[in-house]
Order: sequence, then structure tokens, then C-alpha cells
Amino acid sequence: MNSMYQDPYNRQYRKLRVSLTSACNYACQYCVPDGKKLLKAKHELSVEQFIQAISLIVESAGIEQLRITGGEPLISNKLESFLAGLKTINIPELCLTTNGQFLEQKLPALIDAGVNRINVSLDTLDPVQFKQICRGGDLATVLRGIDQAVEQGIKLKINMVPLKQHNADQVVPMLEYCLERGIELRYIELMKMGHLTTGDEFQQEFWSMKSLLDQISTHYDYAPTRAPNDSTAVRFQIPGQGDFGIIANESKPFCRTCSRLRLSSAGFIYGCLSSTRRHYIADLLPLEREQGLEAMHQILSAAMKDKQDLSFTGETTVMKMIGG
Ligand code: SAM
Repeated sequence: MNSMYQDPYNRQYRKLRVSLTSACNYACQYCVPDGKKLLKAKHELSVEQFIQAISLIVESAGIEQLRITGGEPLISNKLESFLAGLKTINIPELCLTTNGQFLEQKLPALIDAGVNRINVSLDTLDPVQFKQICRGGDLATVLRGIDQAVEQGIKLKINMVPLKQHNADQVVPMLEYCLERGIELRYIELMKMGHLTTGDEFQQEFWSMKSLLDQISTHYDYAPTRAPNDSTAVRFQIPGQGDFGIIANESKPFCRTCSRLRLSSAGFIYGCLSSTRRHYIADLLPLEREQGLEAMHQILSAAMKDKQDLSFTGETTVMKMIGG
């Protein structure tokens, strides 16, 4: 970690998220309202550009964890060569966020590359709801991928976005499923982004941390437990059974401890998931290393200023392009 970028709230960069592609094989209700599947960026970075940019960022900011995300990263035809390129950079921890549709298929390549933490986004165990929410994919295939990953000893988390009108009945079954498999479930409160910042949909679908905990308390005793300082989740322990977390963007905002930095597949650095401010980096990649580092330094300093003070302020979404 590099204190060069510390801001007045003591925030520093620690985690880099790289969106390998903005294309996705799902079109989730809350993410892509028009139901049209997202496509890849017109001018997507090449694998060489990705690796060079990451190498500059890592050297400049002292990144401790890189998370590959999207779009849907496992549908990118760059995945294997990207993973090979990452081996040339010293990054302490490699993680992935995926919808799990191609997890079973890509697991050997991921393990070989040293990916040891995977978050699977899964909002329901009901195949009908699954189709309604995701508008793509197949639940049984995702569940097979999860079983395989658990079997291979991957540290797995499942991310679920509870929606009042779509899957609130899944809050307890999803927890049960995860506890049985030693997986940590993360409920993500619906984030007010993009189309959700206007109109009634957000209020109609929002399922708060309090509603979640009320539901869970009818089945389980739980107690708060520790989370790392820059964690986005509030964590709870069910004695003898396991942990779960809630990423409570609305109920318990976490911007004050944000340590994240994002690189999009189109070559932009984002300092904040809730800001449309972005900084193009492809132009600096052909520079000599020292000049490149200097230019990257300017960009990372500017991106730190893009972080929100306390909570998401609801600018146009970039989540679907650059991942959670
Ligand atoms: N395709 C990958 C996946 O499914 O995990 C990575 C990208 S996806 C946009 C990352 C995460 O963002 C998913 O867990 C998804 O549920 C979540 N997400 C998207 N829009 C959201 C919103 N408005 N509020 C909360 N979570 C959201």
C-alpha cells in the first residue's frame, strides 16, 4: 500500500478491480432495465495494454489485491492470455467476481493462475425466479460451478441482491444453502444507480438491512462480528454455523473507508463506483517506464479526489460496465 495517495479521510488504494470486458451474458432486471445484453467496448484494451496498465498501477499504488470483474469476465476471449500476463506481475492476492455460468468450465485456468477467492453473484435458488431476474443463463450450471469451486478449496462468497418483489422469499433459503457449504453469503442492498435514481422502482424493490435481519432472526441467532477496516460489508456470525455479511450501501454507507480503484476494459480509471468521472490511460502506455509512472501518478491522484465523502450520491451507473 502506498501512502502517496492518502486523502483527508486516510483512504489509500489497496484493491484494484479490473473489468475484463463490459459484455455480459445476463441482463439482470436491476442492472440492465431495457433487457438488452451489454456488449464489449468498441475500443477494448488489448491483453498487452491491460497488463502494462496493471503493472504501472501496482508499482505506483502498491496494490495488495486484484479482482477480475466485468461485465462478465468469464465470457471474455482474453481470459486465458490475461491470466497468463498477470503471472508476470507480483500481486499478493488474485480474486474474481462472476455470475458463475462458466465457472465449472474455467475453473482449472483460474486455479492455475492463482485465483483463490471467487465471488459468485446469485440472487435465487428458484429456477423460475432466476430466469426472471437474470434474463440469461441456467441455474443448474451455476450451482455445479459453485460445487466444483468448493470442492477445489476456493474461498467462495455468494453475492445476492434481495429485491422486495422478486426474491425476498429467498433470503433464508440462500443463507441455509451457503451455511451448508461453508460459503459466506453477502446480501447487497440494492444500490441507487442509473435508472434506479429516478422513478419508483428503487423504492418498490429496496429491501433494507433491517428487513433482512428481521427475516434472518426468525430462523437463526446471530451476532455482529469483525470485518476488515476497508470492508464494504457489515458481518455477522451464526454461532457454530458460519458467517454472513450485508453490503448496506444505503443503511450503512462505506465510502469513508473505500480502498478501491477501478480499471475499465475501455481503458479508463475510476476512483469511485458512484461517479462518472473517469481518466483515460491508454495514451500513457506507449511512454517510457519512468514517464508512464509519472503520468499514472497524476491520474491516480486525480482519481482519489473522485471518491464520495460519505455515501453514493447516485450519479449515472458505471456498475454494469466496471463491476461491483
Ligand atoms: N458479471 C459479474 C457478476 O455477475 O458478478 C460482475 C459484474 S456484476 C455488475 C457485479 C455485481 O453487481 C453483481 O453481484 C450484481 O448483482 C451487482 N449489482 C449490479 N447492479 C446493482 C445494483 N443496482 N445494486 C446492487 N448490486 C448491483
